[in-house]
Amino acid sequence: MNRHETPTITTRAQAAALDQADPLADMRDRFVLRDGLVYLDGNSLGAMPHAARERVHTCLDVEWGRDLIASWNTADWIGLPRKAGAKIAGLIGAGADDVVVTDSTSINLFKVLAAALALNPERRTIVSERANFPTDLYVAEGLAALKGQDHVLHLVEHDDDLMPALTEDVAVLMLTHVDYRTGRMLDMAAITQAAHATGILVVWDLAHSAGALPVDLEGAGADFAVGCGYKYLNGGPGAPAFVYCAPRHQGEATQPLSGWFAHAAPFAFEPGFRPAPGIDRFLTGTSPVLSLVALDAALDLWGDVDMSAVREKSIALCDLFIARVQATCPGLTLASPRDGAVRGSQVSFRHEAAYPIMQALIARGVVGDFRAPDILRFGFTPLYTRFTDAFDAAAILADILASDAWNRPEYHQRSAVT
Ligand SMILES: *Cc1c(COP(=O)(O)O)cnc(C)c1O
Repeated sequence: MNRHETPTITTRAQAAALDQADPLADMRDRFVLRDGLVYLDGNSLGAMPHAARERVHTCLDVEWGRDLIASWNTADWIGLPRKAGAKIAGLIGAGADDVVVTDSTSINLFKVLAAALALNPERRTIVSERANFPTDLYVAEGLAALKGQDHVLHLVEHDDDLMPALTEDVAVLMLTHVDYRTGRMLDMAAITQAAHATGILVVWDLAHSAGALPVDLEGAGADFAVGCGYKYLNGGPGAPAFVYCAPRHQGEATQPLSGWFAHAAPFAFEPGFRPAPGIDRFLTGTSPVLSLVALDAALDLWGDVDMSAVREKSIALCDLFIARVQATCPGLTLASPRDGAVRGSQVSFRHEAAYPIMQALIARGVVGDFRAPDILRFGFTPLYTRFTDAFDAAAILADILASDAWNRPEYHQRSAVT
């Protein structure tokens, strides 16, 4: 296969040949995935690595069950936020000492936004996009209200409106690198540079980037970043998130959730707060150790992985899926960029009956998700998704649409989580 072009695939045998030639094919065996399942939702909850399962069992039986509190030292529970952070740093173009794993993405956003506003005290505006993931906007809204000094959140309607919105009154630009609905990827380096030219600090949300594609925070000059542990990093449901602070800000940046783990000497039990010298100042309280060991073990998988191979396979998987769906499902409209260079590792299509169509797909063993109001979303996680999975998913989708199999009452029932 020409490494820079995805050949046109029209048969399952051709897709199987791509699997045969796939340098990442062996990685799939590291995950627990049942036969017959086409799991295209690793962008929402990554599959479980065998290593994570084993590590949690050891943590339960040996570290907690037998050794109890000694494990904070003997199993180095205390060092896990930094240890896991250093592993993530390697995936996002950050220094090993500049990332720490803690809390949720929402909470970490609050911390870095507050830190960025405090570093730019003459300015009052946070800029983001209306299409950003709602929690990012809600957190910014809440922080602006808490600051209560005419702080405002200004939302632009389209990517094209971003650059003109970067004016001298803006303190912080907060963006999600890969759009959660469409998979559209922003130019991190160009946008960060433009913002800096006007004295604006930039916070990047890497929820759909970390583990999905190569990221270069240092190369882009990013100020702060946050991201999820449970999506492409496979840390398990509710896995803690990560936070990055550029080394140039670490001495000065302060965040308001200044709990004891952010203190320079947590076990000195001093009455007053003194921030830890480096990235540890973005911690708050005690880590969820069971979740953190799962994520830490899942992160070891990346030690054997070449991110450029991940990117190449991701683009090829998405291209194959788009081509098959466009050839066989005339009722669907592509909502993602057709050009793989500006797309993350997911593909979305619009259809007014997206919800029941996705339920019908799930009933046939193809798990993607629905995003309101009309999006069918499919995540392609190159570590465990095969070209035959992409091919089969498109064929089953075409069958469901052609037969109207989605239009049954049970597929219209909405669950609490969609
Ligand atoms: C998934 C996601 C989150 C999730 O935040 P939590 O605090 O983990 O619930 C935040 N931002 C973006 C852009 C996301 O895609």
